[in-house]
Amino acid sequence: MMYECPVCGYAGLKVMPYGVWPPPVDAELSPPYDESLGRPSYEVCARCRYEFGNDDNPGTAQPVSFEEYRAEWEARGSPWFSEPDTRN
Ligand SMILES: [Zn+2]
Repeated sequence: MMYECPVCGYAGLKVMPYGVWPPPVDAELSPPYDESLGRPSYEVCARCRYEFGNDDNPGTAQPVSFEEYRAEWEARGSPWFSEPDTRN
């Protein structure tokens, strides 16, 4: 079972990004997402490099929403952070 990244759409997350996943359809989400979605995975997306629980809750810096991160990532040309492991 793999999960889709809410930032870039890559369907290769190994664990759910947050304890409540997928988010309720009527949820109004804003970072930090653990306040509404529970425990973050701290997994780093292999495609866009978003880290759930860190990029949206950096502690000392401004939290970055999925939408903000996606816009910034697309502006950089939607690069792969690391190539997907096809060897299994
Ligand atoms: Zn991603």
